Amino acid sequence: MRLGVEAALVDGRLVAGDVEIVEGTIARYGLASANGHGLAVPGFVDLQVNGFGGVDFLEADADAYGRAGEALLETGVTAYLPTLITTPEDELVPALRTVPVGSDGPRILGVHLEGPFLAPSRLGTHPPASRRDPDLDLMERLLAAGPVRVMTLAPELARSGPLIDLLHDRGITVSCGHSDATAAEANAAFDRGVRTVTHLFNAMRPFRHRDPGIAGAALARDDVVVQIILDRIHLADETATLVWRAATGRVALVTDAMAGAGMTDGSYSIGGFAVDVRDGIVSGPDGVLAGSTLTMIEAVRNLHDLGVSLPEALAAASTVPARVLGLATIGRIEAGVPADVVVLDDNLEIERVLVGGEARVAA
Ligand code: ZN
Repeated sequence: MRLGVEAALVDGRLVAGDVEIVEGTIARYGLASANGHGLAVPGFVDLQVNGFGGVDFLEADADAYGRAGEALLETGVTAYLPTLITTPEDELVPALRTVPVGSDGPRILGVHLEGPFLAPSRLGTHPPASRRDPDLDLMERLLAAGPVRVMTLAPELARSGPLIDLLHDRGITVSCGHSDATAAEANAAFDRGVRTVTHLFNAMRPFRHRDPGIAGAALARDDVVVQIILDRIHLADETATLVWRAATGRVALVTDAMAGAGMTDGSYSIGGFAVDVRDGIVSGPDGVLAGSTLTMIEAVRNLHDLGVSLPEALAAASTVPARVLGLATIGRIEAGVPADVVVLDDNLEIERVLVGGEARVAA
């Protein structure tokens, strides 16, 4: 099957010509075609999705995951990590057990657990009563309950070192976040092998000139991928521009989307807690930001609008987040990889979405 496109994004550059898919896999690209239309780009990979399309993943059953998945596909996401925020163990364990890995829809690459081992002073909207200091026994029970793939933790907490080592031993990606770490504490975690930071600047020690904190430490080294929520609410445009200039090519876009994403303003839940969405902004009772209604295609457009080239903006939504997970076969268009593809028109509107070569969204 040929896609009938005009060009494809391959390895960070636009390659003119059509793309051929054989048995769900990219076979060839750059094929001569008379009247190709649209640009084939790698399907988007979202590392942080609390919910979508009216569904809160903490409370979701298989049907609800299916509905959220269909809504995510419409936004170009072909692989994602359902994200569960700080929650009592007796709610978290059943939620982990319910995650329908391998189901139809966008690929579920595992769960992102955001908490409970977070800094008490940087919880944002996470419930303080459910926060915990690093606890290896609790971690083992969570790992036994379901497919944990990314763990956000605050590296400055006592016994975070052994926790990081345990997670790395199990092949789980550790991401520093909701953290009051100083630059020295953050660098100690990076030196221990941590390679990414959750929603840079949000819910962490602020950057100051003599106290750059975890944000400054992450931006100053070239081996750490910084995740950002680029909805023009969580970060000022100038901040996002600075992040890009400091970390070109190692910025991963995430949505931090919640149930109200893809829906109208109203009342929704995140991690079981009631929040309000007004003008697309999500806040809890205390007015603190509580996730977003951002979609990944909007994040790509926002990054491109800041002056970042289209190939680089698209890579920040696909290749770079896949790299955070150590996955080389998703988030890219290359011969031999699964055909998870989004076809965009000239206005960066989504025309088609394919997962494993199968058309899931069609104009
Ligand atoms: Zn968060």
